[in-house]
Amino acid sequence: MFDVEGKIVCPGFIDIHGHVDWDDYCGELSLRQGITTTVGGNCGLSPLDINSFFSAQEKQGFIVNQAELIGHSISLRKEVGVTDPLKPATPEQLRQMEHLVEKAFEEGACGLSLGLAYAPGSSNDEIMNLSKIAARYGRIVAVDTRMITGIDMYSLVEVIAIARQTGARIQVSHFVYQYGTGVMEEAISVINRARFEGLDIRFDSGMYTQWATHIGAVLFNEEYMESNGWKLDDILVITGKYNGQRLTMDIYHELRTYYPDTAVVVFTGIEEEIYMALNHPFAMPSTDTGTYLPGEGHPQIAGSFPRYIKKMVTERYELTIMEAVRKATLLPAETLGFTSKGRLRKGMDADIVVFDIKNIADKAVFGEPNAHPEGIEYVFLNGKLALAKGELIDTKAGKAVRCNKPVYDYQI
Ligand SMILES: [Zn+2]
Repeated sequence: MFDVEGKIVCPGFIDIHGHVDWDDYCGELSLRQGITTTVGGNCGLSPLDINSFFSAQEKQGFIVNQAELIGHSISLRKEVGVTDPLKPATPEQLRQMEHLVEKAFEEGACGLSLGLAYAPGSSNDEIMNLSKIAARYGRIVAVDTRMITGIDMYSLVEVIAIARQTGARIQVSHFVYQYGTGVMEEAISVINRARFEGLDIRFDSGMYTQWATHIGAVLFNEEYMESNGWKLDDILVITGKYNGQRLTMDIYHELRTYYPDTAVVVFTGIEEEIYMALNHPFAMPSTDTGTYLPGEGHPQIAGSFPRYIKKMVTERYELTIMEAVRKATLLPAETLGFTSKGRLRKGMDADIVVFDIKNIADKAVFGEPNAHPEGIEYVFLNGKLALAKGELIDTKAGKAVRCNKPVYDYQI
């Protein structure tokens, strides 16, 4: 028996943009936010053997349910031998990638992810041919858009061209990190015009103005830094020996040369634009969570969903509780084609979160990014109690979420 009087009981949150990919600690921080299903393989970075990824989870269980995208811009390109992120794949390399994408979809990947900011040299043929396969299988294309100038709309127009030319359903990744720089209103109107045209474009967005990635990424080449207007002082190191320090020229060169995997965050966003993005009826909250050592990383890894409920519902009255829950559960389920998730109804997977609307709050901050949130009372995964009042009960209740049907089979 569970006493849930006065609490919100709703479907478990679905995090449509994460990078948990089997990491227990990262998975635990997701569970503690009320996330019952995480979607990995985003930003063009994924496991390549989707079948063994899922099989291992089916055998051992995992702390949350995991669905997976197949990642183009880092993983597939590397697999077929494209070593320069500024160069396109050859026709033969593209043919190999097409084969790998088909294989991943046959094995249950729920979509294709493009991380164009990490491989600006990706050709139009790469983008369109692989997205056409996603459209044929009825799977989404998640796009981490190019970062060209910080105020450009070209990167978004490119995404719309993918939808128009291939018919794929598009999920634009962490919208506030891409367009929360003073151009959110314009970016949303570009999305709305495309939707009015009948194109199926949706997006997810985080709860913070600072975004994280690794310093070795091509987008920190000097020319990209300059065209985006990022100054060294806008960038905070969040892992390794300089954790907690802003970049200087010496640190920038040292890390890029010797420690390119060091994570950094870029402080470029405008807070109001977080809320503007998540107010859109086809916007859903996401974490962009990733793997860190305890004490390192971005507070999004532990705070995103509680912060979303707190800010959007109880603090700012941006969304009703029903609408906020819909955008964190049913909307991503329908976007991904998870026909047995996103609703509390007989026959659905019993992924459930119970939270206290009066006390829900994120506690994670830079310096203590793993601080547990408050107000998440119980989390159930597949009918099993996984978390109770902050205590982990079952860390193996999560299942692999293989996608076998086109997303269009699930309409709300
Ligand atoms: Zn990401």
